[in-house]
Amino acid sequence: MSTVGPTRTCVGCRNRAPAASLLRFVAAGSGGDLRLLPDPGRRLPGRGAHLHPDPACLAQAERRRAFGRALRLTGVADTGLLAEHIRTVSVPCGPTDDEASALRHDPAR
Ligand SMILES: [Zn+2]
Repeated sequence: MSTVGPTRTCVGCRNRAPAASLLRFVAAGSGGDLRLLPDPGRRLPGRGAHLHPDPACLAQAERRRAFGRALRLTGVADTGLLAEHIRTVSVPCGPTDDEASALRHDPAR
């Protein structure tokens, strides 16, 4: 069994994974204006937590209010930026443009 580098726990599914495969995020702001910032470069200061870059893990963490616990937040943080980042990096499934144009091909011509 070879482990390369440190492992972290995903706050969504609670599975341990290599830190490099997880998305780090931190909380910014204070009081009633808390938001979660994705930190793919792992450079932001402050207490961070880790999550698989997967919408399912994000949803699980939100449902269990895991963000507040992991980051010791006193309020509810806005997850909009984090959700948007995960949507961008996660691979969408569904028909590609190539498949869509193949369906439009008319065999009668
Ligand atoms: Zn996960």
